[in-house]
Order: sequence, then structure tokens, then C-alpha cells
Amino acid sequence: MSQMSERPDFRIERSELASQDEFGEYGYEDLEYYVDVRGTFDKLPLCPDDESLAASGADVAIVGAPTDDGTSGRPGARFGPRAIRSAPTTWGTDAWSIQLEVEPYERLTVVDAGDAPVVASRHARALRVIHEKVFRVASAGPIPFVLGGDHSITYPAAAAVARHVWPRTVGVVHFDAHADTADTVHGSLISHGTPMRRLIEEGWVDGSNFVQVGLRGYWPEKALFEWMRERGLRWHSIVEIEERGIDAVIDDAIAEALDGPEVVYLSVDIDVVDPGMAPGTGVPEPGGLTGRELLRAVRRVVGAVELVGMDVVEVSPPYDQAEITSLLAYRVVMEALSALALRRS
Ligand code: MN
Ligand code: MN
Repeated sequence: MSQMSERPDFRIERSELASQDEFGEYGYEDLEYYVDVRGTFDKLPLCPDDESLAASGADVAIVGAPTDDGTSGRPGARFGPRAIRSAPTTWGTDAWSIQLEVEPYERLTVVDAGDAPVVASRHARALRVIHEKVFRVASAGPIPFVLGGDHSITYPAAAAVARHVWPRTVGVVHFDAHADTADTVHGSLISHGTPMRRLIEEGWVDGSNFVQVGLRGYWPEKALFEWMRERGLRWHSIVEIEERGIDAVIDDAIAEALDGPEVVYLSVDIDVVDPGMAPGTGVPEPGGLTGRELLRAVRRVVGAVELVGMDVVEVSPPYDQAEITSLLAYRVVMEALSALALRRS
């Protein structure tokens, strides 16, 4: 029986490659996500005004729309932008997409434009300042990626993008358990159940280019689907996804959104995903997409169209568990950034 002539050396005292300057060893961006006093998306530069935004030359700007005064059920989506911006990640701006084999921040300049200056209890004003903020961002150059907020923010945000690209027209791909096409909810025209109705009735988007994916459950009622049919809306229920698969449905959704328009606005209500994978949301509906299906669908849409704006809405951190939902919403943004980066490379 042989034995080593010398015992091995337990080298743990040499396990840290100590720097000469331990205090200055890590820059702000190199520190982990939770070591962060500033709180921008992925610690990206903050460009809160038109001048800094224009000077940044950014391709994409994150915009917060922290209001939930349009909520009918569980509130809390006003805390969505903060939670999505500070979702737990490990890669920061060195991100490398294993899915798409691209480094999004190498190919794209991305900044955080801060939040629309909303206050609580003045919902019409909130939607007006969100519209103004998103319009200013789009006018300065970058594609706005808007973090909600409840879904009522899609009315001012998508209208701002449509106004910016005018006279080009916009198709919308809308992921949601709910159609959000009610005329009013509890008498309000600006509920989170009504934004798609406002966008279509005001003429920002043609009904026939408004495409909904993931509808399920028991709302809205039958009569609303009649209105949607009259206006030419197209929708793909969860049953169709079960039967045909997400890829075939997404291919159709892209073609329908672009049946006329050249550009696309993407709206992602996180409740399109099953509450088991996205519990932190206002109106959970059992039996939804998997997180994996949604992320794949987002990559597919953004990879195939000219994206002019998007939003991720209805993340309600008080109802979340272990940051599951805010992390998924964050990842929706990352997949869109990566797909856009790949498209531009
Ligand atoms: Mn919605
Ligand atoms: Mn919904």
C-alpha cells in the first residue's frame, strides 16, 4: 500500500487573490446587485431628463410607471418598477445570453430614464405624465421599455409610442390572461381593465392589428368578445396554445400584428404566466403559460419585428414570494434586450 511521501498542503489561506487596494478593488457596477444605493435597472446610467437621454445615444431606455390606481383587485403594482429594477441577478452588465448567444449590453446602449412623476390618487394625471414621459423618451431616440404599474399604463405608453412613430402605424402583441378591453370598470374609463379599448377607440392602434395571447378564465364576459370581434381583434386563448403550441401561435400573432403596420409595441401582463410561476400579481388566473414559454415567446417576437416600445406590467411585489415574479419580469426585459441585440448585430 503506497502512501504519498509528503502530505498535501491545505491552501485555504491563499484562497483570496487579495488586491493591493481592497477598498477600491470593486467599482459600483462590479459589486453584486444588492450593493446598490442608486437602484437603476442593472445599475445602468440614470438619464432622467431629455438632455442626458439625448446625449446618451441610447438604443433602449427603461422607464418606470409606478402607479396602481387603475387596479380592481389586489393593489401593489406601484412597487413593480423598484422590484423589477432590483431583481436578484448575478451577471450585471456582463450579461451573456446562453439562449441567444449574444451580449446585450455589448451590442446595445441601455440607460434608465427614471420614473414618470406620478402621485397617488390622481390617476388621470398619472396617465398623462406617463404619456409625456414615454413620448419624451421615444422622441430623444431610445426605444422605451416601460415597467408598470398596473395595466392601465399601457394606454398612455402605447399611445405615446404610436404618436412618436406616426404616420407609421403600430401593431400590438399583448400577452395577458385578460383582454383588458372593457369600456369601463366600476364606471372608470382608465381602469386596468380598459386600456386596450382606449387605444383602439382613440385610433392609436387598429383593432385588426391588436393581437392577444394567453387569454383564459372567466373575464371579460361574452358581450365584450362580440365587441372585439366587431373591431377585428385577434386573440389566441390558452386552449389554442395547449393544442397548437406556443411557437405556432406566436408566428400567427406576429403576422397578424404586422398585417398592415411596420412596427410593433409589445405589452406583457405578467399574469399571462401561471400564478404558480408568477404569484405576485393583481388578478391571478390559474392555468397559464410557463415562465419558459413566455420568455421564449418574447425572444421570438422581438427577434422577428421592428420593436418600437414595450411594457411589463402587473407585478405586485407585496403578493410576491421570494422575488419569483419580479425576477421573471426582469428576465422578460433581458430576453427582449438580447433579442434586439441579436437583431441589430
Ligand atoms: Mn392586463
Ligand atoms: Mn391580466
